[in-house]
Amino acid sequence: MTESTITQLQPMPDDWQRALAVVAHPDDLEYGCSAAIAAWTEAGREISYVLATRGEAGIDTVEPERCGPLREREQRASAAVVGVSAVEFLGHRDGVIEYGTALRRDIAAAIRRYRPELVITLNHRDTWGGVAWNTPDHVAVGRATLDAAGDAGNRWIFPELVEQGLEPWNGVRWVAVAGSTTPTHAVDAAPGLERGIRSLLEHRAYIEALTDEDPETYVRNFLTGIAREVGKRFGDKPAVAFELFPR
Ligand SMILES: [Zn+2]
Repeated sequence: MTESTITQLQPMPDDWQRALAVVAHPDDLEYGCSAAIAAWTEAGREISYVLATRGEAGIDTVEPERCGPLREREQRASAAVVGVSAVEFLGHRDGVIEYGTALRRDIAAAIRRYRPELVITLNHRDTWGGVAWNTPDHVAVGRATLDAAGDAGNRWIFPELVEQGLEPWNGVRWVAVAGSTTPTHAVDAAPGLERGIRSLLEHRAYIEALTDEDPETYVRNFLTGIAREVGKRFGDKPAVAFELFPR
């Protein structure tokens, strides 16, 4: 393919005020997406995080009872760096999240509580591209989030939510999937990149267990590398890509 035939990514819509990000684990948003979150909160938008698990199975050397609270603290600090103060944990078990109505209901309930116009999630497809296999938790939560955007608007799908006072919210206009193998849209990462780097660095215990490299060097190289790669399809500006599903 020549330069001119590489499909360019479209700019993300910006006529919205509230977004809700729903992912499986602490760090899922920080591995690429949080530069976009930082840019959006800087522009005055409200963004909240919902995590299906506390990531308690994420560090081989730390048992889950200690790991869960540690990673929850790191996630809250990480969110604060990019201007996000509402962080909820749904308490599903890390590594064995089951796709199904219980997960859809929990996410639909969160969508009704936060009433977002934009919902953000992480790659729900089998792979990260080629033969890089995705994890079952990401697939389950990504799919359930795409489904729950519809469930949230239908009062008859989970009537128990209405009984709990959660009225239907049919205002989700898009679900944006980060880390998708087939992105369609992008957002300029430049204004949020430094804070995105610092937000991933807050997952220090996780990163130190993951690599022997200096954490800041590892994080900076990783995130600027992805942003530059996406930017080749977005006017050569560092960018964060999303696959956008309008509703
Ligand atoms: Zn994850």
